[in-house]
Amino acid sequence: MKGKAMPNNVIQHWSDGKPFAGTTTDTAPVTNPATGAVTGQVALASVADGQHVIDSAAAAFPAWRDTSLAKRTQILFAFRELLNTRKPELAKIITAEHGKVLSDALGEISRGQEVVEFACGMPHLLKGGMTENASTKVDVSAIRQPLGPIAIIAPFNFPAMVPMWFFPIAIAAGNSVVLKPSEKDPSAALWMAELWAEAGLPAGVFNVLQGDKTAVDELLTNPKIKAISFVGSTPVAQYVYATGTSHGKRVQALGGAKNHMVVLPDADLDLAADAAVNAGFGSAGERCMAISAVVAVGGVGDELVSKIADRARTIKTGDGTRDADMGPLVTKVHRDKVASYVDAGERDGATLVLDGRVVDADGGADGFWLGPTLLDNVATDMSVYTDEIFGPVLSVVRVGTYDEALRLINSNQYGNGTAIFTNDGGAARRFQNEVEVGMIGINVPIPVPMAYYSFGGWKNSLFGDMHAHGTEGVQFFTRGKVVTTRWLDPSHGGLELGFPQNN
Ligand code: NAD
Repeated sequence: MKGKAMPNNVIQHWSDGKPFAGTTTDTAPVTNPATGAVTGQVALASVADGQHVIDSAAAAFPAWRDTSLAKRTQILFAFRELLNTRKPELAKIITAEHGKVLSDALGEISRGQEVVEFACGMPHLLKGGMTENASTKVDVSAIRQPLGPIAIIAPFNFPAMVPMWFFPIAIAAGNSVVLKPSEKDPSAALWMAELWAEAGLPAGVFNVLQGDKTAVDELLTNPKIKAISFVGSTPVAQYVYATGTSHGKRVQALGGAKNHMVVLPDADLDLAADAAVNAGFGSAGERCMAISAVVAVGGVGDELVSKIADRARTIKTGDGTRDADMGPLVTKVHRDKVASYVDAGERDGATLVLDGRVVDADGGADGFWLGPTLLDNVATDMSVYTDEIFGPVLSVVRVGTYDEALRLINSNQYGNGTAIFTNDGGAARRFQNEVEVGMIGINVPIPVPMAYYSFGGWKNSLFGDMHAHGTEGVQFFTRGKVVTTRWLDPSHGGLELGFPQNN
């Protein structure tokens, strides 16, 4: 909606500790995926709006950097307590705009909360090093300092957890933040901004900029922004990394995925089938760690496919606020795109075991429904295998040996997550050593690391050197300084133009 009067239900930006309407009337519709209804309009920032919000973060930074660690962590603890008490409110907001079922929305908040809890330990994490008498009467210390205003650009699929991978650590370390949520589910970010204000965070330390490419481009090029944490599809991650770094910023850009689950002949096939269904269809497959390709090794295919199909048939697809296992897809456009991959798989000769295009969903007639879909005998040149689909479509690829399975994964452009199901410790150990993927599960289908480890893939699943949260997150949001100190001592005066040497 361009150039029309701003409607009342517009979802705004947040800066200087309060809502900011922005200067344009450009908006995009936000829908409830379970009904298809337009429930609001989100503001789309102009360049001037972007500058206004970035200025708010820049103005707040110096005082926040100088706020004691004790005070900063008190505010973090307060945010954690409020979040823990009030997370059902946030879960409802997520379900209403994303579509995932309420229990899943609560799950993502809890995983984000773990990062808040990790960041409450920032005083310990920021401890530097000190060497006394490195040279005669010379001491050396290493400290880490915050970067300045940083930007987080988030995808639609985890409107609370993904921003929380970054902002608790960035804020605890003394940075100020501009969060640019996905325009598909923008309200969770505003709810979290209000919670920060309630927790006592000074105005301007946490800001929200709503918008599309215009907002992103302002964040990537504005010299006041010092670092970018991006999560989204690979082509946009590549663009963000190239543009941000060419403007002198530190960038970590997490991209797309195609996660394989290898099932060896000795595996417990019931456990493997449960895992494939949970990891393939949870959140309607809209997870970057979802399993989308099951690699059945050495003759387990028939039994495994039959067990997966039996379980998948029991999944209730419906409105996430009701008694459903799996919700709708995020938008009609995305639903139709995922369905078109199923069309293509069928055309290309895959065996359609379960067809989610025909689904009796417990929800609105205009909801963006697609049921669990299972394709067997998928070949590696089919688009259903080569592309990231990001929907409830599980492909089974049959191979003869472990080596073939490994080659398949290692030749894939993505390297986010993978899993192996086996009772053979030697095979599992070999897999974790040989597979070129950032996060590995052994009899665990979605191996999302705990907050105190770092999250990130390899190859086209991550651009940059540092992964999200854990100690790499602390490193990303701080930079090192080494201070060499000598207090005045008359015996050490005099001119010496040679390169400093230790003695
Ligand atoms: P997306 O790339 O479409 O959007 C991500 C963000 O980039 C949004 O804020 C969006 O507004 C912005 N954006 C979109 N197009 C842009 C453009 N041309 N220029 C500048 N900015 C642009 O991703 P999505 O559809 O919101 O999310 C799904 C994708 O995210 C999937 O590919 C999924 O694998 C990936 N993802 C990856 C991880 C991970 O940890 N690797 C985690 C979650 C999601």
